[in-house]
Amino acid sequence: MMKKATVNKNMTYTIDLTKIDGDGAFPCPKCGVMISPEDETEEVYQIVETRVKNDELAELTLMCNKCGSKIKLVGFLSQPEN
Ligand SMILES: [Zn+2]
Repeated sequence: MMKKATVNKNMTYTIDLTKIDGDGAFPCPKCGVMISPEDETEEVYQIVETRVKNDELAELTLMCNKCGSKIKLVGFLSQPEN
């Protein structure tokens, strides 16, 4: 059962993980709730889509359970630093 199912327009935000320090946690761009990749309870967010390139996670789309925003995470793939 969904408690809050009345979300009209879902914005999609993009978070670049290469610009995040620490353990990869970031605040939801809309409501500010902390979203941690370590959190697997699905209480704060749920994963709606994963995209894999060359057997590596390339993109992850989450939905914030608090405000319903979709958040696309990019930057999983390690970039060459030369
Ligand atoms: Zn949110």
